[in-house]
Amino acid sequence: MTHPAQPKASHFVNGAYVEDTAGTPIPVIYAATGEEIARVYAATPAIVEQALASAQAAQKIWARMTGTERGRVLRRAADIMRERNHDLSVLETYDTGKPLQETLVADATSGADALEYFGGLAASLTGEHIPLGEDWVYTIREPLGLCVGIGAWNYPTQIACWKGAPALACGNSMVFKPSETTPLCALKVAEILHEAGAPAGLYNVIQGMGEVGGALVTDPRVDKVSLTGSVPTGKKVYAAAAAGMKHVTMELGGKSPMLVFDDADIESAISGAINGNFYSSGQVCSNGTRVFVQKGIKEKFLTRLAERTATAKLGDPMDESVNFGPMVTENQMNIVLGYIETGKAEGARLICGGARAEMDGYYVQPTVFADVTDDMTIAREEIFGPVMCVLDFDTEAEAIARANDTEFGLSAGVFTKDFTRAHRVIGQLEAGSCFINSYNDAPVEAPFGGVKASGVGRENSKEALKHFSQVKSVYVRMGDCEAAF
Ligand code: NAD
Repeated sequence: MTHPAQPKASHFVNGAYVEDTAGTPIPVIYAATGEEIARVYAATPAIVEQALASAQAAQKIWARMTGTERGRVLRRAADIMRERNHDLSVLETYDTGKPLQETLVADATSGADALEYFGGLAASLTGEHIPLGEDWVYTIREPLGLCVGIGAWNYPTQIACWKGAPALACGNSMVFKPSETTPLCALKVAEILHEAGAPAGLYNVIQGMGEVGGALVTDPRVDKVSLTGSVPTGKKVYAAAAAGMKHVTMELGGKSPMLVFDDADIESAISGAINGNFYSSGQVCSNGTRVFVQKGIKEKFLTRLAERTATAKLGDPMDESVNFGPMVTENQMNIVLGYIETGKAEGARLICGGARAEMDGYYVQPTVFADVTDDMTIAREEIFGPVMCVLDFDTEAEAIARANDTEFGLSAGVFTKDFTRAHRVIGQLEAGSCFINSYNDAPVEAPFGGVKASGVGRENSKEALKHFSQVKSVYVRMGDCEAAF
């Protein structure tokens, strides 16, 4: 019998599911059991061509509609997503292994927020009137054209919507390629947008590995590439896009710092550290994986952190009381376990966890290392799993310098009751998305993105509109045009 997660076909192109089994098979493995629950096929050149050609044609129709009309489609799609939240959340859990307790509130709901927010803004995308005495200039905010979205595997529904909603609001079309690890959820986003009234071809989803992504990025019809992925992939995709002078948004990895000062509310800071390291089993780009704790509270912090971490409930992700799921794949589990062994070998003090959990599926115990030093591998490289590094510090200036001593710059957090210090410190941290006495909140109203190697451009908020549109300026001469000869 077919598993309920199996999609009708691998791709959603030009308003319909399409299949081409000549492509490389991509098995979908449920991380909680290791069983194959679905199978899709990578897009063949013929599918890539259909996706790009239909998206190019649909964009012309879509851009001629008013912003109000476009916004209405997006807001209708948001309503449909909310109505189907439960089913979409179950699918997200099958795709990623994340617990249903999380997916019910963080995935289709976040996607719907983006569709609703950008749907609401679509009608307000206007230009300026610039008076120049008798003459004047006016500007028009125009779409870029055909946009490509390429996703990572940790938030397949959210990423598909965070890229699609602002792109479509601005009058663009999109071809979206999900991660080959989690190919299921984006198909539902395409289906729902079509049902909500998006013209056929406006938002296509095609499957594949990096090769299919590469074919999209280098196609001359493509005007913009928005990638969520790792830094090495980001460098390749950015370079390929630059060769074609295309616009880019790069949402890449991180090794973000969280600074906990002596005066912080310890329980609140521990909640921040737990949210910023163990949510989605640590598979979150903006995680605060370097937790700098001021020496005065270090041991108390570690004791309570270990006590609270021991209460994490690992288990069947479909059980809504479970709050800690498996790694997305066996491979990712092995990468994380490898880092844990490196941490032990390099002399970090293991406070809790530190091994695979004894159960089916790809579970790694929530792990905390203390006495981590800046030069250790686990403090320098993105692990993308439930491994928290606690480092200690004496002074504010020292903590800031050490927090910034990384190639990454996605997020940063500060826990303190001294608000003057909080703002002073945040002002000096090299990161795009910051938090004071909180960690990892990502409302659609707030810009999200990184500095340094963590990325280029911003998603969400009004900032995202700038990255999916461009400005045409028109000089209007009211008198005669004169020339020297
Ligand atoms: P990845 O870089 O391996 O892959 C990302 C996507 O790029 C996949 O869809 C992949 O098929 C595609 N790809 C790979 N090579 C390509 C190429 N040459 N041309 C075009 N496309 C190509 O990342 P991943 O392992 O799927 O995800 C984890 C990474 O994503 C982590 O580093 C994490 O920090 C990052 N991430 C960042 C954000 C953010 O918003 N900043 C969010 C989630 C994840």
